[in-house]
This record gives sequence, C-alpha cells and structure tokens, in this order.
Amino acid sequence: MVISQTAARMGIDNTPTPEILKNLRIMAAKLEEIRSLLGVPVLVSSGYRCPALNKAVGGSKGSAHMLGLAADITAPSFGTVLQTARKIAASGIEYDQLIYEFDSWVHIGLSGGAPRRENLSIFQGTGYLRGLMSKPPQT
Ligand SMILES: [Zn+2]
Repeated sequence: MVISQTAARMGIDNTPTPEILKNLRIMAAKLEEIRSLLGVPVLVSSGYRCPALNKAVGGSKGSAHMLGLAADITAPSFGTVLQTARKIAASGIEYDQLIYEFDSWVHIGLSGGAPRRENLSIFQGTGYLRGLMSKPPQT
C-alpha cells in the first residue's frame, strides 16, 4: 500500500504518518472485503501517495490516495476490469467512490463521512462520467 515505483525512481519518501497508517488499515480491511467478494487475489497498483508522489503521477488535487483512503486495484483472475468494477458496485460493500479508470484499473475511495457509493468512469480525453460504462457515450 505504500510501495511506488515512481517514488523510488524520483527519490520521493512515501512513508505514511501514524494517522495515515490508521487509514491504511481501514483501507486494507476494505480490500479484504473485496477480495472475499471476488474470491480471487486483488492486486494493488497504487495505495498511499504523499502529496509529492500524487503530483508526480498526475493524481487529482483532493485525491483520497493522499489520505491513505484509496487504492487502485485489478483482479485479473476474476475477469476484466469492468466486470470487477460492476461486481463490486452490485455488492453491499460500502465505499465513497468507485471509478473505472482508462479500462485499466478500478479506483476504490473511502471517506471520513457517509459513503456516497458514487460510480464513475473515465477514459482518455473525457472527464469523470457518471456510471460504469464500457466506453464513453458517442457525442
Ligand atoms: Zn486511484
């Protein structure tokens, strides 16, 4: 949840503070719920990002990754990224945001407040779109 190739390459110290570590434990428990739902291993490509790392990878300004409350995941032995996103969205698992990103990973974000269970998709050249869709609507 804290390892980052980008941080290593750029010499960014991505060590979480004790407060963020608490959030990472909450996030890890959420990922275990998802692993249990999917029945297969869940791979985390990005977890905690300190502000410098978040900036380096082009993360959004208010990213939950900077609080240790988000993870980008795939579960290749479950199915496609979209199938994974839809399975989580259709479950009773609580989350703040689930984002199907660039047909490549699922972003799961939590919040300190009431979970919105907001489902979004983003593709190259689009902003965030409401709902989970295989491709952007034709304009
Ligand atoms: Zn993310």
